[in-house]
Amino acid sequence: MSALTPAADRFHSELTELSTLVDGDRPGWTRRALSETDIAGRHYARSLMDSAGLSTRIDGAGNVIGVLPGRLGGREIMLGSHTDTVDGGGRYDGITGVLGAIEVVRLLRENDIRLDHDLVVVVFFNEEPNDFGFFCVGSRAMTGRVDRSMLAATDIHGRTLASALPDSGIDPEAFLRARYDFSKVAAFLELHIEQGPELERMDRQIGVVETITGINHFRALFTGRQDHAGTTPMDVRADAGCAAAGTVLAVEAIAESGTNTRGTSGQIAFTPEAVNVVTARAVVEGEFRGPDGSWLQEAERRLTEAAAQQAAARGVHVEMEWTTDDAPVPLHQPITSAIAEVADDLGFSRATMFSGAGHDAGIIAAKTQVGMVFVPSHDGRSHCPEEFTELTDILPGISVLLETVLRLDSSLT
Ligand SMILES: [Zn+2]
Repeated sequence: MSALTPAADRFHSELTELSTLVDGDRPGWTRRALSETDIAGRHYARSLMDSAGLSTRIDGAGNVIGVLPGRLGGREIMLGSHTDTVDGGGRYDGITGVLGAIEVVRLLRENDIRLDHDLVVVVFFNEEPNDFGFFCVGSRAMTGRVDRSMLAATDIHGRTLASALPDSGIDPEAFLRARYDFSKVAAFLELHIEQGPELERMDRQIGVVETITGINHFRALFTGRQDHAGTTPMDVRADAGCAAAGTVLAVEAIAESGTNTRGTSGQIAFTPEAVNVVTARAVVEGEFRGPDGSWLQEAERRLTEAAAQQAAARGVHVEMEWTTDDAPVPLHQPITSAIAEVADDLGFSRATMFSGAGHDAGIIAAKTQVGMVFVPSHDGRSHCPEEFTELTDILPGISVLLETVLRLDSSLT
């Protein structure tokens, strides 16, 4: 191992510091996008980027962008991940890649290594799903995949995304214009925890991601009729809650029909919420995932049909919305090969793999060559408070990230 060894204590103390910037009213380590704690988390990351020697700015979509100028200027290698979490989430998802990228910058500077390319570090805004049905919001804005209809999307309280963004210091008009010039970006790399059990199961240190899952995200709004639970006969009810429940089971059945496919209804809300009232309104939100784009389209068609059947059988009205559909993303072979070679040369065991989790890297892949480096997740747990990766398992990931940057810097124009 060279002098370019990541500093374990530095990484650990920053991870610990970031773990204090959480919503105390929620379980786990909660720092949801569009919250006060998310702003605090991104500001903390920015302060680390500043002290590492990056010149930082926040773009129109809330992405924190830091630049370490290279010798030649004009061409860039980009690293990045996110600091927001799901409700009740863990300490490693996203943050590992952000702190890892900052550590790469520090190691370069401490060892007087000047790259040819500018090294750009991005803390993407709002990677996890928000209350408006969107995820990877910052990276979508950077790649021009946002539009006015997205701003008009509402949360369960009827609030629009346009009215929520200013609380996070984001002007909706600037948000729509926050495109990044990817013509100058030679490659993008993201370090991330695996969030699943495969690396640990195979006893491998580094995962080289070949494909990122496709995700089709839906919201079904059922409108029935509010009635007395005791006096209204079963055959005259329009129970929105039952139509929603039938749809949840349809998601499960459809997902079980494919290979490596998943389906989840993670959010459901009844109005009113009372044991003695027939539900007037129910909202189910969920998603399908899988490596095969045509299966995802078929799942979308089948669920739309199932929800309509569930509603029609009960005299309930349904509005089915597919808020995002992202096809599976194959990552770029020159970059994945470089990562695999680096892992071999540094003596780390590795495996090529499929990511069942979505990532900003999957969005950025439409604009430049992308690779992802995974490190193991203990017991495969993620999006829960128990999410854990040993520091000794994270450091090899940072070393691979750094060495891949060095190789791409000399091999790419
Ligand atoms: Zn993540």
